[in-house]
Amino acid sequence: MSKSDRRAAVLRNFRKYFGSKAGHPREYFETNWSEKTWTRGCPVAIAGPGTLTEFGRALREPVGRIHWAGTETSTFWNGYMDGAVRSGKRAADEVLGEL
Ligand SMILES: Cc1cc2nc3c(=O)[nH]c(=O)nc-3n(C[C@H](O)[C@H](O)[C@H](O)COP(=O)(O)OP(=O)(O)OC[C@H]3O[C@@H](n4cnc5c(N)ncnc54)[C@H](O)[C@@H]3O)c2cc1C
Repeated sequence: MSKSDRRAAVLRNFRKYFGSKAGHPREYFETNWSEKTWTRGCPVAIAGPGTLTEFGRALREPVGRIHWAGTETSTFWNGYMDGAVRSGKRAADEVLGEL
């Protein structure tokens, strides 16, 4: 698709799900995730074999008063939206527990 066709298709989709206001963004930009050096595409970054089973726990261990959220710290659906939400709840529970 040409850039303008892609833009029209994306905004059509936004309007469908979020209403007419979503069809008139103040800014619009595109990213080709496959060209990103550190992700090489998406949605999930790949840890090498054994990394998560051996060291994964360290990703979510609090450091003093710092508590870690983010999909990479999730034990379930790691790397996806589901994992992101679960990790946020877990981190919030940790903080509430400390309080
Ligand atoms: C192209 C692509 C397609 C995807 N498709 C899917 C899909 O179909 N289904 C699915 O479930 N998941 C998909 N994902 C994965 C999903 O988007 C992520 O897992 C999820 O958004 C991670 O949420 P998060 O809150 O952990 O992190 P993020 O959404 O990355 O949020 C981190 C936030 O922290 C901000 N930040 C960074 N540094 C700082 C700082 N120093 N100070 C303040 N703020 C900071 C960032 O700007 C960002 O807003 C996709 C991801 C990509 C990139």
